[in-house]
Parts: sequence; C-alpha cells; structure tokens
Amino acid sequence: LYRHILAAYDGSEPAERALRQAIGLIGEGAGTKLSVVHAVSAAPRQVGGVAVAPPDAYFKWLEERNAAIERRMNEAAGALAFGEAVVLHGDPAHEIAAYAREYRVDLIVMGSRGLGKIREMMFGSVSHHVVCHTSVPVLIVK
Ligand code: ATP
Ligand code: MG
Ligand code: MG
Repeated sequence: LYRHILAAYDGSEPAERALRQAIGLIGEGAGTKLSVVHAVSAAPRQVGGVAVAPPDAYFKWLEERNAAIERRMNEAAGALAFGEAVVLHGDPAHEIAAYAREYRVDLIVMGSRGLGKIREMMFGSVSHHVVCHTSVPVLIVK
C-alpha cells in the first residue's frame, strides 16, 4: 500500500493519464496522500547561447497555460480526502525528485512524454531524468 504518491502533471495527455492512474491506485477509504505536482521553470532567456527577449504574448500564453494546469490540479486534488496541488519553481526533474525525497513519497507516477513536440524518443527529458535521479519507484504511463 502506498502512503504518499506524487503525480507529476504538466497538462499533457500522458500526464492526464498518469494522474488518473495515480487516483486509481488510491484505495477507497485508504489514507494515501496524493500530491499533484507541477514545476514551473523560468521562460528561456537564452537559446543556443544567444540572448533572447520573448514577446509579451509568449509570457501571457505561458501564464494562461499554467493557470489551466493549476485549475485541473486543484480539481483533482480537491476531490480526494488527502489530495494536494503543489506548484514548484525550478527545473522540473530536479524539483520532482527533490520533493519526493523531502516528503517521503513512495511512488512517483508520470507520463512517458509531455508537452514537448519532439516525438523520436520513448521518454521525454523530464521522465528520463526523474527515473535516473530518484531512488523512489516510478510508474511511467504511456
Ligand atoms: P521534453 O520536455 O523533453 O521536450 P516531453 O515534454 O515530451 O519532452 P517530459 O517533459 O519528459 O516529455 O514529460 C514526461 C512527463 O513528465 C509528463 O507526462 C509529466 O508527468 C512530467 N512532467 C513534465 N514536465 C513537467 C513539469 N513541468 N511539472 C511536472 N511534471 C512534469
Ligand atoms: Mg516536457
Ligand atoms: Mg521540457
């Protein structure tokens, strides 16, 4: 029985499937805690070593996307007895692994891929790095 599950959520379809899988793992009436975690990383200031100034529209789009992600996290966590929505700031893989360690998470559930557009590899960089850098069991949902 898991006591504390972390569902990593970025608003993508695989992350949505991972979130549903995590909710399904919580037995009815069991005291399992579910932390739905989104890590917000800073907008790019450099691309390939070259300084860039993203247009305001890009920041607005990012803000709206993050707001939609938070709404879904709050909805999912709010429906559970021991659910919480957690927004972290920093590198997603690092933040997810650090949170899992600090709060004694015993299962991380995440999608194989996320919002990234490149589809050549089975894993995205975040799922890849989390699996490599945590000692917590990871359930990867396709
Ligand atoms: P890349 O980001 O490398 O371009 P990708 O977006 O396809 O590739 P990942 O970002 O690795 O793939 O996403 C895999 C899973 O990691 C997602 O389904 C989600 O569970 C989790 N994840 C990704 N980004 C975040 C984030 N910022 N916060 C929380 N979880 C995330
Ligand atoms: Mg991604
Ligand atoms: Mg990425």
